[in-house]
Amino acid sequence: MERTLIIVKPDGVQRGLIGEVIARLERRGLKVVGLKMMQISRELAEQHYGVHRERPFFASLVEYITSAPVVVGVLEGPKAIEVTRATVGATNPVDAAPGTIRGDFGLTIGRNLIHASDGAESAEHEINLFFRPEELISYERAVDPWIVEE
Ligand code: UDP
Repeated sequence: MERTLIIVKPDGVQRGLIGEVIARLERRGLKVVGLKMMQISRELAEQHYGVHRERPFFASLVEYITSAPVVVGVLEGPKAIEVTRATVGATNPVDAAPGTIRGDFGLTIGRNLIHASDGAESAEHEINLFFRPEELISYERAVDPWIVEE
C-alpha cells in the first residue's frame, strides 16, 4: 500500500470543486486517510515547492497557493502515487487528457486545480509537511476486498 498527498488548490475551492475532485479519486477506489481545510502560509508554501525555488514561476506559484483556503488530503491504495497522478492529468491543463481532473476543469497551468505528489520520496516528504501522524487514520472499509483482491 502506498500513500500520496493531494491539495485541492485555491481555484478548486473557490470554484466549488472540492467534492468533485475528491469524488473522482474516491471513485477510483483510493481511500481517504487524512483530510483538512487550511490556508497555506508563505513559509509552508516555500517548503512544499522548494524544488521550484529558482524557477521563473516560483513567486506567482507561492502567491497562488497561499491566496485562499485549500483542502489537503492523504490517499491510500496500491500504486496510489501513480494512480492519483494519472487521474489528475498533465501539469498543463492544455495537455491534460479529457477525463482527467485538469483535462475536464482546467485551462491554464497557473490554475490547474490540484496538486498530487510525483514520487515516493516527495509523497513522504509532503505528507509529513502537512499532517501530524495522529491526523492520519488507518481503517478498513467493507468494500476494500471488492476494490483490491486479497
Ligand atoms: N507551474 C506554473 N507554471 C509553470 C510550471 C508549473 O505555474 O510553468 C505551477 C503549477 O501550478 C504546477 C506547479 O507549479 O502544478 C508545480 O509544478 P510541477 O512541475 O511540479 O507540476 P505538477 O507536479 O503540479 O503537475
